[in-house]
Amino acid sequence: MGRLKVSIHKCSGYESEELDKAINMCMNDIGGFEELLSESTKILLKPNLLSIAEPEKAVTTNPVFIEAVIRKILSVNGNNPKAITLADSSIPIVPFSKKGLKELYEKTKMHYLADKYGINLNYDNNVKKISIPEGITVKSIEVMKVVPDSDLIINLPKFKTHNLTIFTGAVKNMFGIIPGMAKPGYHTRFFKFEMFCNLLIDIATGVRQGLNIMDAVTGMEGNGPGKSGIPREMGLVIAGYDCFAVDNAASNIIGLDEDSSPVMKVAKKRNLRGAFLENIDIAGEKIEDVFIDDFLFPETRKTDLPDNFFANAIKRFATNSLNPYPYIDFIKCTNCKTCFEVCPEKAITDRNLEKNNLIFDYRKCIRCFCCSEACPEGAIEHRYSFLGDLIINRYGLRRNK
Ligand code: SF4
Ligand code: SF4
Repeated sequence: MGRLKVSIHKCSGYESEELDKAINMCMNDIGGFEELLSESTKILLKPNLLSIAEPEKAVTTNPVFIEAVIRKILSVNGNNPKAITLADSSIPIVPFSKKGLKELYEKTKMHYLADKYGINLNYDNNVKKISIPEGITVKSIEVMKVVPDSDLIINLPKFKTHNLTIFTGAVKNMFGIIPGMAKPGYHTRFFKFEMFCNLLIDIATGVRQGLNIMDAVTGMEGNGPGKSGIPREMGLVIAGYDCFAVDNAASNIIGLDEDSSPVMKVAKKRNLRGAFLENIDIAGEKIEDVFIDDFLFPETRKTDLPDNFFANAIKRFATNSLNPYPYIDFIKCTNCKTCFEVCPEKAITDRNLEKNNLIFDYRKCIRCFCCSEACPEGAIEHRYSFLGDLIINRYGLRRNK
């Protein structure tokens, strides 16, 4: 079995020339588009369209980045835009309906890709069941119909932090193929963190992407992946055929190696090749040359206690008492109730009548942070209890800074 390839190239901004150059160099390093597609290949572009957010918020894959990929595809598929469809399913509060998708495409500026190049934007809200025979968590899932109807998936993730999985890139981006309201159900079903990571891995391995090209030109740090995160200039494009290899290389750039990235750790247990840096040839920039040593991780970054009786007892206790919990900043909150709608556990109530504000029921809360991801105002913070703060932060059990 050949070695895996990932290419990393610098890209100083979203100007067309810069993007074309960086994407071309990446593709030359890993093997090019020509091998992957012909004129009739039905291509699905799968960006990260997490929520209704303007491109400059860095919540979504930048449309200009996608435009550069489209230019490249058109140059090798006989200039056939009708073979290209762009699709994603957003957070559950954005209905997976024609109206909801229209608003999503307009705000994220995807509509201009259709206007300018004539590609298709997906408005088909049908779902189709696909089987994942090797899955550990699920043996089949219902996904956007356009996914199995395509011949080639080009995954276009955004480099971001994630308050549940620390980092989100190519692997987690595939969770978006599950339409709208079905997503919270998976959070509830797989509330144990390792099982949720296994679910992400089942989806990413069960629905093979032909290619992954990551928008790390402007990434996101802090309490991502929604509007609570902070855009971070990174100036990189990262590409490869294997989504685990791409994420492994990408997260090493911010000092999150395969033993500290939660998804990669689980992928390693499953012996997936891309989860081992030793299996990857990196072309273009070396990781150490583009390393970012002051990257801001989410507050929710988990503790990493050893696997022994004492530590396991602490871990059980930690879920409720030591891990951070969501907390509303009422100065920023507009009482839009988006968090109330998306919470898979119905752990947010509007019974705080005195102030007409929302409150959390922390006994029900599974710390999935979907509320924070969805909040349009970035008003949901992460806090530690007094004990959690003492043990996790002050006594140094938290691994990063
Ligand atoms: S916390 Fe955010 S999502 Fe929840 S009501 Fe306030 S503004 Fe809306
Ligand atoms: S309150 Fe927020 S973190 Fe807790 S279960 Fe609901 S969505 Fe998840």
